Amino acid sequence: MSKPKILILGAGYGGLMTAVRLTKELSNEDADITLVNKHNYHYESTWLHEVSAGTIHHDKARVLIKNVINPNRVNFVQDSVREIKKDEKKVILKNGELTYDYLVIALGFESATFGIKGLDEYAFAMRSINTARRIREHIDYQFANYNNDKNATPEQLAIVVGGGGFSGIELLGELVNRVPELCREYDIDPTLVKITNVEGASSILPGFDPELVTYAKNFLESKGVQFKLDTFIKEVTPDSVKIQAKGSEDLEEIKAGTIIWTGGVKANAIVENSGFETNRSKVPVKDDLRAPDDDSVFVVGDCALIMNEESGRPYPPTAQIALQEAYVIARNIKHILKNEPTETFVYKSKGTVASLGHSDAIGVVFGDKKLKGKAAATMKKVIDDRSLFLQGGLGLLLKKGKFKPF
Ligand code: FAD
Ligand code: NAD
Repeated sequence: MSKPKILILGAGYGGLMTAVRLTKELSNEDADITLVNKHNYHYESTWLHEVSAGTIHHDKARVLIKNVINPNRVNFVQDSVREIKKDEKKVILKNGELTYDYLVIALGFESATFGIKGLDEYAFAMRSINTARRIREHIDYQFANYNNDKNATPEQLAIVVGGGGFSGIELLGELVNRVPELCREYDIDPTLVKITNVEGASSILPGFDPELVTYAKNFLESKGVQFKLDTFIKEVTPDSVKIQAKGSEDLEEIKAGTIIWTGGVKANAIVENSGFETNRSKVPVKDDLRAPDDDSVFVVGDCALIMNEESGRPYPPTAQIALQEAYVIARNIKHILKNEPTETFVYKSKGTVASLGHSDAIGVVFGDKKLKGKAAATMKKVIDDRSLFLQGGLGLLLKKGKFKPF
């Protein structure tokens, strides 16, 4: 009898960890495991703000998949998923197709642009190594160009970050470190460079601990960031953003050479386009993380929607929840293969820590313990290092770990 075929789409936190855990839960005889990913590397999406600002090199944030998974146990296919034909248990790739008995969808996130005019065309977004590297190169170019182009204006040095959620704030934390370096490198007066954050809510990091929010805002303001709160980005043009304050009829225009959108994420569109039942672009998975309309399909990470019964809202899409889901999916696939009942996924939040550059941060951990400053920055590095260890053991931790002192 042929072995069941398990197919994992995407090698981000959810997909890579599912592959790693399946090799621990199953023996070679139990199933064939295939992992498909666009690139031959996995990247730490949670470090993309550092790659985008240029405060770390992109190679630090990526690792070859063959160095993490056991090639004798997992067949790795480098290809792009185009469509999932769930009725035929088939996945269409750019260069072929694959069939499955059990599918794990781990295709991650895309930017949510909410139909804002010009956003797709003229704003950058941090979605992958390629998009982050392009942001870094673009900012570098603006600074390199400034003293060479007789028509250059300080507006071309200006940076607008749209959205003051965790991605936007972590990016600003890196930019306030990087911009002074760029000014030194290209002989530019730092007072010429304006960094603006536009946030639609009345506060940055809406819903997060108010004391820590104030700390982060004061910290970034002290480094020169200007905040426009209660203000929405309405349109992006090749050299500006048009914004509107709550309650105002008028649009204000901010000229900027670099516009980066961090206003929200949604699931990879392949999920919706493949005909799965979705809610806010994601699959509202059952308790055991299977799709509601297909028992052979598991969904992990940013493509899955799980309700927090306490708050009545979905859990936010994070690497933390994706990693925890991967453990349960691997066990549930084993249970199914052994004709055992599946387990219910229960999320255990370990807290949230957001960096403010290399040596500052804010966070709430261990339930309600608040951290800020160097203690929080240390915790953030511990979290990043733990994630590396879970994915690739001591070898990956030693290669890519964040050990640099403040
Ligand atoms: P992803 O990590 O997005 O991985 C998806 C994988 O699928 C990628 O390898 C991609 O290349 C591949 N893929 C996509 N499309 C295709 C295709 N068509 N064919 C083949 N392969 C494909 N969360 C935290 O918990 N803590 C943090 O500190 C944190 N910081 C963040 C900082 C930033 C700047 C950002 C943007 C996000 C951060 N997050 C954080 C959120 C976290 O990164 C995501 O929730 C997490 O990456 C989701 O994991 P995933 O496995 O679902 O998808
Ligand atoms: P988000 O949805 O959390 O934040 C987007 C922000 O943009 C919101 O504050 C929203 O009010 C604002 N916004 C939306 N439309 C706007 C508009 N037109 N004009 C101005 N502001 C607008 O998105 P994110 O920050 O990219 O985070 C995505 C996910 O990744 C979240 O679940 C987050 O928790 C997670 N994340 C976690 C960390 C961490 O734990 N350190 C870091 C980064 C991201």
